[in-house]
Amino acid sequence: MSTLLVKNAFVVTMDDQQREILDGGLFIRDGFIEQVSPVSGLPDSADETLDLSGHVIIPGLVNTHHHFYQTLTRAIPPAQDANLFNWLKTLYPIWARLTPEDIFISTQTALAELALSGCTTAADHLYLFPNGSSLEDEIAAAREIGVRLHASRGSMSLGESNGGLPPDSVVDTEEHILEDCQRMIEKYHDARKGSFLQIVLAPCSPFSVTSELMRQSAKLARNYGVQLHTHLAETEDEEQFCLQKFGHRPVGYMQSLDWVGDDVWFAHAVYVNPQEIDVFSRHRCGVAHCPTSNMRLASGIAPIREYLAAGVQVGLGVDGSASNDSSHMLAEVRQSMLLARVREGVTGFSLSNDTGRRLMTARQALWLGTRGGAAVLGRSDIGSLEPGKCADFFALRLERVEYTGAQQDPVSAVVFCQPVGVDYSFIGGRCVVKEGKLTNIELERLIESHNRAARRLLEG
Ligand SMILES: [Zn+2]
Repeated sequence: MSTLLVKNAFVVTMDDQQREILDGGLFIRDGFIEQVSPVSGLPDSADETLDLSGHVIIPGLVNTHHHFYQTLTRAIPPAQDANLFNWLKTLYPIWARLTPEDIFISTQTALAELALSGCTTAADHLYLFPNGSSLEDEIAAAREIGVRLHASRGSMSLGESNGGLPPDSVVDTEEHILEDCQRMIEKYHDARKGSFLQIVLAPCSPFSVTSELMRQSAKLARNYGVQLHTHLAETEDEEQFCLQKFGHRPVGYMQSLDWVGDDVWFAHAVYVNPQEIDVFSRHRCGVAHCPTSNMRLASGIAPIREYLAAGVQVGLGVDGSASNDSSHMLAEVRQSMLLARVREGVTGFSLSNDTGRRLMTARQALWLGTRGGAAVLGRSDIGSLEPGKCADFFALRLERVEYTGAQQDPVSAVVFCQPVGVDYSFIGGRCVVKEGKLTNIELERLIESHNRAARRLLEG
C-alpha cells in the first residue's frame, strides 16, 4: 500500500459536473484516486506529498490515433507537400526498410513527446512489419516509458497487384496476419481496470486491406472482446476508391462488413453525410479526430460539432508523426478548438451568439482530449479525476511567459495560449515527468540513437 498527496493546485476534474476546485488536491492510493477535494478536506499526510501551488492539474490526455514509427520520417522533403495518396506512395518504400530496433526507438520517442505534452494513454496503429519487426517491439519499448498503451495490431493485405495502394512488398497474407493477431491478444491483452496494455485489431484502410480480412478481423476481435480500429473517410480519393472498388461509400462499406458497433472506432471520418453520422450515432461507433493531420495533408475538416450534436463519441489523435509532424497532445487539443471554429465560420454552424449557439469552447476541446478519448477507447477508468479512477494527470505551472495576462481563467489559458511542455505527469500514481523532465529514460541518448536510425532509413 502506498499513498500520494498532491495539494494546493487548481484542479480541473472533468467529472460530469465539470467541477473545478481552487486550492484543491488529490489523495491517491496504489495508483487510484481515493479523494478529490479542496485541501481542507484531504488527509494531512501520505507516504509522499507534492505541493503544487501555482499549478493547474488536468486529467491525463488520451491520444486515440497515432503511428509511432513515423517519428523516423518527419517532414522529409519529397513528402512535405503531397496529399494523402501521394504522401503514402512516397513513404511506403522508405517504411519497408524499418527494423525491429527502429520500431523500438521510434515508440520511445513518440511516447516521450506524448508524455511531455500531457498524454497518459495512447492508442498506436502499427500496420507495417518489415524485416522481422513485430508489435512486440513496440510493447517492450512502451513499458519502459510507463504510458498506458492501446497497441493496435494493424495490417495490410491488398497490394498494388490486386488494385490496392501499397506496393506488394509491404503487404502480408491474411493467414499470417490473423494468426499473429490472435497470438498478440492471447499473450498481451489486459482488460482489467487500470490496464496498461490492451490489444486492438486494426486493418489499415479500405485501400490497403481486402474485404475478407476486414470480416475475419471483426470476427476474431469479437471472439476475444477486443476493439476494432481503422482509417475511414479520410479523403475524397478514398471515397472514390470505395465507390469504384466496392460499390459503397466508406461508411456503407463498413456496414456491409459488420464493422459498426460500440467496439469500433474510426480515424478521421471527414467525408460523411448526415445519414452516415446517424449510422455512427445509432451503432455507437467512435471517431478519432486528427485536426493537424487533416490540415497538413489537405484532407478536409471533420464535422465535429455535428458528431457531438448527434451523440457520437469523439476523441482526439495526433495521428502519425509524418503527417503532424509532432506528437504534442496539448497542441492537438488547441488545434481541435481552432479548426472547429474555422468550420463554424465557413458553414455558419454557430457564428451567431444570438441563437444561443457558441463557438467550440476551450473546455469542450479539453473534454474531447480527456473524456471523449476515454469513451472512444472503451475505458471508464480514465479521463477524469474522480474517486475510483486511475491516478492519471498532469500539472502545468501557471507563472510562465506563455500564460501571462491569462491568469483569470487557467483552463482556457492552457488551451488558448501557446502549447507548452508539462511540469509534472503522473500515470497510475507514478511520476513519469518531474520538473519538466522524463523520469524513466535519458532523452538525450534517445534523440541521438533516433536520428542515427532515421538517417540510415532515409539513406537506404
Ligand atoms: Zn493514421
